[in-house]
Amino acid sequence: MERVNPAFLYCDQLVRDFEKVIKTPILHKSSVYYTGVDLGTAYIVLAVLDENYQPVAGAYRLASVVKDGMVVDYIGAIRIVRELKQELEEKLGAELIYAAAALPPGTFTLDSGAIKHVVQGAGFEITNLLDEPTAANAVLKIKDGAIVDIGGGTTGTAVLKDGKVIYVADEPTGGTHFSLVISGAYKMSFEDADQYKRDFKNHRELIPVLRPVIEKVSSIISRHIAEYPVNEIYLVGGTCCLDGIEDIIAKQTNLPTYKPKNPMFVTPLGIALNC
Ligand code: ATP
Repeated sequence: MERVNPAFLYCDQLVRDFEKVIKTPILHKSSVYYTGVDLGTAYIVLAVLDENYQPVAGAYRLASVVKDGMVVDYIGAIRIVRELKQELEEKLGAELIYAAAALPPGTFTLDSGAIKHVVQGAGFEITNLLDEPTAANAVLKIKDGAIVDIGGGTTGTAVLKDGKVIYVADEPTGGTHFSLVISGAYKMSFEDADQYKRDFKNHRELIPVLRPVIEKVSSIISRHIAEYPVNEIYLVGGTCCLDGIEDIIAKQTNLPTYKPKNPMFVTPLGIALNC
């Protein structure tokens, strides 16, 4: 059962608007455009906002240029970001100049240079490089609790106090591992399993198969928040699209667990808001 939190009113509206402009960009002249570039393990997402920080365009592509939060295919990453940038510029009839990007928790010192160079190499002027939980919280606007980002490759846990991130951790269990489990159980290729998993019609059937890996994610979350007075968990990241994941995490961690209607685009939009 989906628990809806009033905190998600802004988030749900923003994401809904973003989903619309991915299909049909809004063509009006803005004095400036802000682009959020999210380089993920599974997807590269570009979110474009206008001068009023409203979504006007967006695009995403499945890509394997990042592993465990690190850029592993530098040239491939630049090429995809540049192609998505050009595609959006053609649709909008405007040049996209400014972009912000984000890094998973704990990789700042390791990979900030690579991500920055990818964004610049694609032709953007980079205005900000922030951590992913801070980006997500620009959309969620949570004061206290934990934001858990279950993406393609990793689970990132961030503890917030008074609206500020006070602890972050990233561990390598994410949607890729979910797809591997499905691939093994259903004797499917990884690609077919990933596609099967992304179809909402299959979620009810998949939950029992995925329960052990969701419980593993829950134990990762519990371990990271153990030292902090966390009373609520907020889920973001594409893997949290899975219907019912929130119930298992709530049960295992013994904490109320909330997720927005579409947890997948929260971080890219938060990056754009910080551009
Ligand atoms: P990371 O944050 O680990 O670098 P990423 O940013 O690419 O990776 P996201 O875009 O947040 O991660 O999520 C990608 C994951 O979400 C993939 O494993 C994908 O299969 C999964 N996913 C996307 N849509 C759905 C869906 N409808 N149901 C279940 N899983 C989904």
